[in-house]
Amino acid sequence: MQARTLDGRMIELAQDQLDGLKARLKGPVLLPGDAGYEESRTVWNAMIDRRPAMVVRCLGTADVIACVQFARANQLLLCIKGGGHNIAGLGTAEGGLMLDLSLMRGVWVDPRARVAHAQGGCLLGDVDRETQVHGLAAVLGFVSLTGAAGLTLGGGFGYLTRRWGWTSDTVLGMDVVTAEGRVVRASAEENADLFWGLRGGGSNFGIVTGTDYSLFPVGPEVVGGLVAWPASEAPKVLELYRTLAASAPRELTLVALMRPAPPAPWLPKEMHGKPIIALLACHTGPPEEGERAVAPIKAFGKPVGDVLVRRPYAQLQSLLDGTQPKGRRYYWKSEYLPRIDPALCAKVMDNAAKIRSPHSAVILFQIEGALNERDGADSAVGNRDARYVLNIGGSWEQAADDAANIAWARDAWSDMRSFSTGGTYVNFLTEDDGPERTEAALGKSIARLGKLKAKWDPQNFFCTNRNIPPA
Ligand SMILES: Cc1cc2nc3c(=O)[nH]c(=O)nc-3n(C[C@H](O)[C@H](O)[C@H](O)COP(=O)(O)OP(=O)(O)OC[C@H]3O[C@@H](n4cnc5c(N)ncnc54)[C@H](O)[C@@H]3O)c2cc1C
Repeated sequence: MQARTLDGRMIELAQDQLDGLKARLKGPVLLPGDAGYEESRTVWNAMIDRRPAMVVRCLGTADVIACVQFARANQLLLCIKGGGHNIAGLGTAEGGLMLDLSLMRGVWVDPRARVAHAQGGCLLGDVDRETQVHGLAAVLGFVSLTGAAGLTLGGGFGYLTRRWGWTSDTVLGMDVVTAEGRVVRASAEENADLFWGLRGGGSNFGIVTGTDYSLFPVGPEVVGGLVAWPASEAPKVLELYRTLAASAPRELTLVALMRPAPPAPWLPKEMHGKPIIALLACHTGPPEEGERAVAPIKAFGKPVGDVLVRRPYAQLQSLLDGTQPKGRRYYWKSEYLPRIDPALCAKVMDNAAKIRSPHSAVILFQIEGALNERDGADSAVGNRDARYVLNIGGSWEQAADDAANIAWARDAWSDMRSFSTGGTYVNFLTEDDGPERTEAALGKSIARLGKLKAKWDPQNFFCTNRNIPPA
């Protein structure tokens, strides 16, 4: 069989080489045509359609080490698929050796120490499910099917970020298989340089087989959900968002979004497909306080739908899953914002009015709080001046509509990027974002990351990522 090397050549792998690898593995090897290969090789964004030469469904750290050593010995291009949610398709590579970590999804919770150990292939929902048994939660993102390690390696934000920082700020340690095929611990005490780089630098330094997350008391019941109004109300609703968010306690996270109404049962049929504005809220303090905090939203104007209620935290964490299914076509543009400017709100409305697909949205996420209080050099993730995230999310179904939807997202981005801090979120970068966008995402950390790369991966073996060339 043919496989791609690190320098882009195709080489022939003999059957005995493949048999040698299989003999070292506990997990299955899938080749094109094998049952399960198609499911493993495909990623969330249907714009990305690559065929790895083979997929290894790793069953543990020993399998990961065997794959790294095999790939190194044959100079093979290696890719690591966690949740497969990266919009740029960084989890897959044409002709490469794919490590599919989706069988490594164990989570162990120590409720007394308030720590969860999550294996390298965990999805966010796997972690929430086990931690919520104890009324605890890790700081994770908004969609439960996203890979936890991939999210954490790029920073990570969600409903708990305002209280406790980037996801990566809450990591206590990681177990990592390095480019040499060794397993090492990265924490404040061991390999502190690597620990600094892993928290923001992506998969440039190794394969994370396990992460220890700090846990915090959350729920099980919180006040969370959405209230929606017709888009004609957007000037008033965005002003409400701007002022409420500015004075909201850290327990409350507010997200504003404009899009065509999805065919959701909580929205009246006659609204489906019509433009709406919605506020998504989550209050993670006592539910009575939460209800008081969201009362101005629920009482505002004449909503067309309101599902902002007491509900289990784990349920809120998967509320948006249905809006982001695997297999649609996606293209995003994103910026960090220092504030919500009234002039930006006007542009959000203008650009939402030009949306070309029933699934696209313009979204403002509130993240300000704990993450702004750490030193800029605390970890590679940086961007300590980010207070909101703007995401222009293009989402559609047919390849024939690619050009129109990508043009919409790019035009909206050109129109709004002047409001940026100058930074952008590394985990939201698309396939056509070049090295200058990686630099915008990693900012001042990039020079130190280059040196770290030279120490831990001088050959640039881990290159299917937002790549940091060895300095
Ligand atoms: C629908 C959706 C919602 C999202 N919501 C949020 C959100 O709320 N907050 C947020 O911060 N981000 C969010 N993201 C962005 C998300 O953090 C990134 O897409 C992230 O890269 C996803 O990781 P993954 O493992 O699912 O992706 P993959 O495509 O599998 O991998 C992405 C990158 O991470 C690397 N990687 C994955 N696992 C490992 C590992 N164990 N060890 C080493 N490298 C690894 C891969 O090599 C690749 O370079 C969202 C993305 C989507 C598609």
